[in-house]
Amino acid sequence: MKVHLFYSSLPKEQIDLDVFENVVDFLQQSKGPIQFTAGKLDYRHEITPLSVRPQFSSNETIFHSISLNKKLALPKQKGEIRTWNSAEEFRTQKGKIEEPEPEPSPDFPKKEAYMPWDYFFDQCRSFREIHAIPDQDHVFLLSNMGNDKNWFGSIGPSGRDYFIHTANWDYFFKDADEQFPIAYEVVVWLLRHLMFTDRQSMLTGIHSKPKGCANDFCQNKEEIQLKMRTADVCHFCMEKLQANSYNPLYLAQILEVFERVRVNLLFRERAALLNKPCRIEVLGFSRQLFLPDLGNTELKLNPKEKTLYLFFLNHPEGVRLTHLCDHKRELEQLYSRFVRSGDQGGVREAIERLVDRTDSNQHEVLSRIKKKIVRAVGSKMAPLYLISGDRDEPKKIALDREFVLYRD
Ligand SMILES: [Zn+2]
Repeated sequence: MKVHLFYSSLPKEQIDLDVFENVVDFLQQSKGPIQFTAGKLDYRHEITPLSVRPQFSSNETIFHSISLNKKLALPKQKGEIRTWNSAEEFRTQKGKIEEPEPEPSPDFPKKEAYMPWDYFFDQCRSFREIHAIPDQDHVFLLSNMGNDKNWFGSIGPSGRDYFIHTANWDYFFKDADEQFPIAYEVVVWLLRHLMFTDRQSMLTGIHSKPKGCANDFCQNKEEIQLKMRTADVCHFCMEKLQANSYNPLYLAQILEVFERVRVNLLFRERAALLNKPCRIEVLGFSRQLFLPDLGNTELKLNPKEKTLYLFFLNHPEGVRLTHLCDHKRELEQLYSRFVRSGDQGGVREAIERLVDRTDSNQHEVLSRIKKKIVRAVGSKMAPLYLISGDRDEPKKIALDREFVLYRD
């Protein structure tokens, strides 16, 4: 199964390219027969959005807490009798938690531009035509543009074209990178593809009441957190899946993505409480960096970034940036592992630039490493992993080295 992820180049629609790359990377790291590729739909002209709507109404305000310090009311003198006519009624007769009115936020109201669904599926069609994508392949548009029904994503008439809305995820997941929910939404549609034979049954077969199942609709948008945290597929959906014949490795790969999303979301939520860092695994001759506690996500650094990062991992005592030039040999040895050519002159030149404080290269490499680490472990945990230190002090990585594992 081939899955093409693409974005549109129109300024109001284009997803942040780092996020796009991360989504693709995250999905490509899953093992199995589903192949993910990346593309772009280039536009020369701009299109005006359909209209603008207020973004969130007050009942969609996301993070409100439950008040627990109310005085207890005295019990009623006499017990009362209640009846129920069906098991369903019994289940729904449970009381409700009274929630306080959410405080109006000074940041609201916000406005959001949106387009009708057809607009996104037209883009999918154009992408297919331009890139000569075979009919049986799946095509996903990742777009920052809102859609008229305000869904997280949907499926087009072809049954293999989809769009995912990529903006506003920070309302639902604090300190979580939007790559996780976006990647999750992509594979949910692939799961529905395995469950149902046509688009109509996919759209009507979504659970309108949340069950903590990947196939929940989440009319109340907050419920999206529930299904991603459970990373589960309910009984009903499992039966539906069993009734269809498909390569079981598809399902295994989809569930693996669910699980990695879940682990990453929970890690970030709990990081501050548990205060336990995730390990870094340094693998093989090419020194690939993995985060085994985050679903074995790879921390992808380019040769220069990896050289500098591994160097600082090797120096827990820290090294001043002005003293990096005293370590050229060690840096060159590391760097020559990661570049294919045996060109020693090129290696020396690259390291020469890296250790030169007057060259912007060092600063650029450091800030790219920082960005990638914050994305990988979240902003709360990032300080442990960053190469940091006060001005004119030695720079170091704070992480206790017992959390760094080297494997052949
Ligand atoms: Zn289900």
